[in-house]
Amino acid sequence: MSIKSIVYDDSADVLVIGGGLAGLCAAIEAANTGAQVTLLEKRGECGGSSVLSGGLLAFAGTDLQQAAGIRDSDAQLYDDLRRAGQEQNDAALVRTYVAHQRAAYDWLKKLGVVFTSVELAAGHSVPRAHSLRSQDFLALMEQRARDTGRVKIVFDAAAERLLRAGDGARVEGVVAQIGGKAANLHARRGVVLAAGGFARNAEMVNLFAPHQAKCVVYCGEGCDGDGVRMAWALGAGLRDVVHIKGTFGFHPDTGKTPGRDWSKHSVYRGAILVNKRAQRYVDESKSYKLLGDAVLQQPDALAYQIFDQGVMDTSSDTAPLFKFKEALALGRLWSAPTLDALAQCTGLDAATLTATVARYNGFVRAGHDDDFGRTGLSSGYGKLVELTRGPWYAYPSTSGLIATYCGVTVDAETRVIDVFGHPIAGLFAAGEMAGGFHGVAYMTGSSLGKCVIFGRVAGRNAAT
Ligand SMILES: Cc1cc2nc3c(=O)[nH]c(=O)nc-3n(C[C@H](O)[C@H](O)[C@H](O)COP(=O)(O)OP(=O)(O)OC[C@H]3O[C@@H](n4cnc5c(N)ncnc54)[C@H](O)[C@@H]3O)c2cc1C
Repeated sequence: MSIKSIVYDDSADVLVIGGGLAGLCAAIEAANTGAQVTLLEKRGECGGSSVLSGGLLAFAGTDLQQAAGIRDSDAQLYDDLRRAGQEQNDAALVRTYVAHQRAAYDWLKKLGVVFTSVELAAGHSVPRAHSLRSQDFLALMEQRARDTGRVKIVFDAAAERLLRAGDGARVEGVVAQIGGKAANLHARRGVVLAAGGFARNAEMVNLFAPHQAKCVVYCGEGCDGDGVRMAWALGAGLRDVVHIKGTFGFHPDTGKTPGRDWSKHSVYRGAILVNKRAQRYVDESKSYKLLGDAVLQQPDALAYQIFDQGVMDTSSDTAPLFKFKEALALGRLWSAPTLDALAQCTGLDAATLTATVARYNGFVRAGHDDDFGRTGLSSGYGKLVELTRGPWYAYPSTSGLIATYCGVTVDAETRVIDVFGHPIAGLFAAGEMAGGFHGVAYMTGSSLGKCVIFGRVAGRNAAT
């Protein structure tokens, strides 16, 4: 919006749009520089997709890894991130993540965040997904924002447009609907967009990634793409939009009944994947983004994660992706004493399923998977296991669009960059709505990680 003289109803040094993880980190960090911050959240509570998340954050070289005897390093993290993104991600953004990641981990711990375990997950060459309970995490971060005494959080406040005094002028505020009333809010120093992704905006998803239409959608209620569109309207560039991908592992009933944690990743503990024909169709150790694409090519976009009691015994009590026992208790996981019986309850052909499992076990024994080249549990890491011991389990799975992992072009300072390569003065973006960091595919834990790392950078830069 281009307006010569704007009448403002209220002002702050920094306006943060969105009360998910990125927005809260930006707000805390801006407040810590002494800035007065107003955070607008369009829903009645903070949390966004962040609070629904699996609570895995990717950090390398931490005390938790060391205690578990895991050797990891900045260089290895950098390589994994670049590999996961198939080198289509912005090296400068990845370097920034790596440069700030240990400080971000220490900062979170200082704020009182407790990580419970380190898990091996998609795109990791060593276990580095630091696990926590996302509900506790987001509640704590909101409290820490309030503890600064300089962050005002306004609920039911939807930012609608960015304000500046003319084309090319600095962004100096937003038009918002607050409690149903329009208001112009002034940002004396800067505006941080942290409004999350756009998985719930079918029109935008269809525009960039029509091939993802068969995904189930599961993310924060506010993921409508408002932030991306506000910046786009001012000429912001867009990155990674062609790489929108669902995430493999979601139950086809996701979101149809109340409850959370619909996604399971027994493949990274040794399960195999079969389609409705009871046949394997992919190297199961690939990133779950690529597994997401692969399942969309299968009949009815459906697969089953098939595993035995040995894999079940690795069930976690804390990391939602690996809570297989909980999935069983919730009735989402099929279980049967024999493979034949499992085939019967899932509707798979028993003879084919038995042959598929036997063939796979033969590959594990021989040390090479002649069909799909699987060499490890995840990205080549972890020893493959034979599936031999009942009871047997099947988790019906499809691809879930839980995040868009793409959006406006930003530089390493989180400044929003326009289509001509110039920063849009006064405007910063962080979190899921910022593009360029992931490239082709996302490494587990790097989205929450980037919310913390780039949220902090954005908050500091907007404030100064
Ligand atoms: C089920 C699930 C599991 C996941 N698991 C992981 C994981 O384990 N590890 C990982 O790294 N990533 C994970 N992700 C992805 C990750 O959670 C998200 O990418 C990340 O939390 C996004 O954070 P954010 O702060 O950018 O956005 P959000 O947390 O979505 O917050 C954005 C906020 O902005 C608000 N908002 C939107 N528009 C406006 C507006 N116009 N005005 C004001 N407010 C607005 C929204 O209501 C929302 O509260 C998962 C996602 C889901 C859904």
